[in-house]
Amino acid sequence: MTGKKEPTDDEIMEIMGLTVTSTHQLCERLRDLFAGVDYISRPRTLQSREDMQSEVRKVNRNNGWYDDDRSPLEGHMLIVSEVSEATEAFRSWGLEDMTGKVSLDKALPSPDGSTVVEKPEGLGSEYADILIRLLDQADRDGVDLRAEYQRKIRFNKLRGYKHGGKSI
Ligand SMILES: [Mg+2]
Repeated sequence: MTGKKEPTDDEIMEIMGLTVTSTHQLCERLRDLFAGVDYISRPRTLQSREDMQSEVRKVNRNNGWYDDDRSPLEGHMLIVSEVSEATEAFRSWGLEDMTGKVSLDKALPSPDGSTVVEKPEGLGSEYADILIRLLDQADRDGVDLRAEYQRKIRFNKLRGYKHGGKSI
């Protein structure tokens, strides 16, 4: 990874415009523009819920987390444990991203061995753990999380100010 900046919108538009006279020239220009761009540092697109759920399933299978049966109750408590870790992260560090500042001995080499991947630490990382656990458990239980989200948020829109007078 060279850390080269991504092409600007103007540069991309230039390629898509009249300055390109052939498909071959377009391919050459695109290859030049994107060569060496560091995609690991900034993902370009959000993943769909299906992509994220299948990725979580694949990672967890590869890491052996499907080798033994797990009850939904165990899965629920694993989600709760990540909520607890988020609370502890906030108590210790507030909103600060602590990646690279703690757990330095837990860094791992990238698959090609060219760099070291720090263990993410802090509130954001714990929120990610909650999401990963939730996606995993919904997948195991056959719950369509997108459909359930849409159904619940549609209902919540109708509930009114503080859901009818609740204090928190
Ligand atoms: Mg965690």
